[in-house]
Amino acid sequence: MKYTIGDHLITKKAHVCGSNEWEVLRIGIDIKLKCVQCGREIMMFKADLDKKVKTVIEQRKSEQS
Ligand SMILES: [Zn+2]
Repeated sequence: MKYTIGDHLITKKAHVCGSNEWEVLRIGIDIKLKCVQCGREIMMFKADLDKKVKTVIEQRKSEQS
């Protein structure tokens, strides 16, 4: 999957806080994500993230009208 900073990701498994929505903060060797509900930030390798992500919500596209 392809990720862009600002995208929101829906993961298959929920975070400990109960939310399964994450915001992409930084993309490099690994990807930095922030839990939308509790604000916890995590780092994850792209290969690992690909296995966990169910849906990518592209923020930029939704702003166009
Ligand atoms: Zn959380």
